[in-house]
Amino acid sequence: METASFVDIRRNPTRTISVGTTRIGSAAPIAVQSMTATRTQDIAATAAQIRALADAGADIVRVAVDSAKDAEALIEISREVDANLAVDLQENYRLASILAPHVAKLRYNPGHLYHHERQRSWQDKVRFLADTAAAHDCALRVGVNCGSVDPEKKSKHAPSDSISPMLESALEHCELLDRIGFTRYCVSLKDSDPDHVIEVNRRFADQRPDVPLHLGVTEAGMPPEGIIKTRIAFEQLISRGIGDTIRVSLTVPNDRKAEEIAAGRRILEDIAAGRVRSVVDYGLQTLNIISCPSCSRVENEAFIELAEQVRDMTRYAQDHDITIAVMGCRVNGPGETDDADLGLWCGPNFVNLKRGPESLGAWSYDEILPKLREELDRLIADRCPAQSRPT
Ligand code: SF4
Repeated sequence: METASFVDIRRNPTRTISVGTTRIGSAAPIAVQSMTATRTQDIAATAAQIRALADAGADIVRVAVDSAKDAEALIEISREVDANLAVDLQENYRLASILAPHVAKLRYNPGHLYHHERQRSWQDKVRFLADTAAAHDCALRVGVNCGSVDPEKKSKHAPSDSISPMLESALEHCELLDRIGFTRYCVSLKDSDPDHVIEVNRRFADQRPDVPLHLGVTEAGMPPEGIIKTRIAFEQLISRGIGDTIRVSLTVPNDRKAEEIAAGRRILEDIAAGRVRSVVDYGLQTLNIISCPSCSRVENEAFIELAEQVRDMTRYAQDHDITIAVMGCRVNGPGETDDADLGLWCGPNFVNLKRGPESLGAWSYDEILPKLREELDRLIADRCPAQSRPT
């Protein structure tokens, strides 16, 4: 469904880093990536999955490695595939030295640097990883995860505060990498709760707008719920210029893994076109028309035409900082329109109009546009009496 012209999203001015043939950062389009779910030592299956992901358009494919045997397998796989490979170093960070010549990016988790060689400081381990990456033309990702946060950081905060330890850990690693002089890195802050993902990434981007961000919701689940959860987090972040590469993590059988790439691309396209499920503010201070991407819950196809008509009819108000949301169903429409200045949600043969959370009534599909115009004029007059136009 094409209901919107593309929104000019202003990306955060991050530095841009190379990962093989892909670039991550504000000077490059948002990269879409995925991770293999096969046993890494099953070389044929893992190579086949990497090819399937690359064929589906993955810019980067990540492979987990936790043992010398896994590492050997990945080295063999790297010879068989033509993809930008990232290795996910689990607890065994030292494997970086044998893998770096064969991959484009090393991902480490600050919370996992405590498990091996306990006598060695985490700072030393990061120096080793940065030196290894630099020597072999690799990028790094500092991958902070809610389920395995640096225990020192966790102990400083209340158990109910899962955000601060993640944030502090990421900032501390950035600070060390900068001090070492290694700046070819990005950061991820992942949680299974989309609201946490939004908050922690917003706070990080406020403090480090220069660092490219990899966005993801962990354990998002099966489609469609997993996609919806991820979409909600991405909508709120990407609309505000936060996020330089994404991964949609879905629980799907191995032969459907490429769906992660299709889902990621679809979410990016929808955000860029204003087709969103949650009310987003693109921060543009102009008229912001958003409409949901539509799904099987739409009860009247006229919703799609209505979304286009709303866009056309409201062009005269382009210079006003007003958000109008058009949602396709009565299941999510009533709640999702609460945060918009004016909201429309569509039933089988009527359309409900709201001003913020207040319901103004329901009208037929033929009657709703003049009602919306009345309300829009009223809103403009309330906010900006001198510039308002009579209806
Ligand atoms: S608002 Fe309703 S119709 Fe639109 S995408 Fe959400 S659930 Fe589907």
